Amino acid sequence: TSVAELLELRRLDAAAGLGSRHVLDESHALRAGIDAQELVVHYQPVVDLPTGRWEGVEALVRWEHPQRGLLAPAAFLPVAEASGLIVPLGRQVLTLACTQVALWRDTPPTGGGAGGGARDLHVAVNLSGRQLGEPDVVDVITDALLVSGLPAQALTLELTETSLAGTGAQVDAALAAIRARGVRLALDDFGTGYASYAYLQRFQPDVVKIDRCFVAALGRSERDDLLTSSLIGLGLQLGCGVVAEGVETPEQARMLADLGVTTAQGYLFSPPRTAQALGARLVAP
Ligand code: C2E
Ligand code: CA
Ligand code: CA
Ligand code: CA
Repeated sequence: TSVAELLELRRLDAAAGLGSRHVLDESHALRAGIDAQELVVHYQPVVDLPTGRWEGVEALVRWEHPQRGLLAPAAFLPVAEASGLIVPLGRQVLTLACTQVALWRDTPPTGGGAGGGARDLHVAVNLSGRQLGEPDVVDVITDALLVSGLPAQALTLELTETSLAGTGAQVDAALAAIRARGVRLALDDFGTGYASYAYLQRFQPDVVKIDRCFVAALGRSERDDLLTSSLIGLGLQLGCGVVAEGVETPEQARMLADLGVTTAQGYLFSPPRTAQALGARLVAP
């Protein structure tokens, strides 16, 4: 643990009103959890709106805590970020997700139907700023593809403005190298940051993910609708794939389709689930 990391832990403690022992304890517990393979990946389908077909999944980490039960990322990612544990954790998630999706792609459709099953399934994995800043990030991604056998074209890495903020030439070079391998890049939580235009310009994502707050705002007022449709239009006009997040109602799905969105995620279709729980439907013909 570096001095900078300790300072960051102290800052987090202060913000949370906790004793500084607390976050240190938490990071030790998280380290033990990672080593004990208690960190698992759940998958949420990414749906093609016109056909309802599940064209991909997003990998979302969970902690199967022996005492506290299933923990969502909000319960442990801040400590993971502050302690640097997000680097080994993120690497584990990436490898697990690539391996799982490669497996699904290779599973013949059940029921002997003529459909393609999960042959073309793709996977989106969230990448933190910490991971992106590691000097070996390109090797880590290349390794995950190699050991899993997943084609680079089937992988999308999701980045947020926050994870890109304050980064420079080194990260730009890493992103260019990742892209040159055929991996796609997505700008996550699009529209929620302070400088969405600046990041669109610099980062030129293949995909933008419309944050769920803009989906939730649909139908609320003319102004809200206008804001959401402008963000979608911006993404489409730049030639990006546009994915709407947090779709919970058929009405939202319909409005999004009217605005030209063809790809969506949300509880309307499925919450994130274990690989086992999603498997049968994913490889259906
Ligand atoms: P995100 O990347 O924006 O992921 C979408 C979040 O929205 C997920 O929360 C998902 O469960 C939730 N969600 C999906 N559909 C709906 C819906 O219809 N309604 C509502 N209200 N929520 C929906 P989750 O799994 O708790 O993840 C939270 C955040 O943690 C993620 O936001 C992402 O930023 C981060 N995260 C998750 N897994 C990883 C990971 O492996 N690495 C990194 N660096 N970050 C991760
Ligand atoms: Ca689509
Ligand atoms: Ca995401
Ligand atoms: Ca998001």
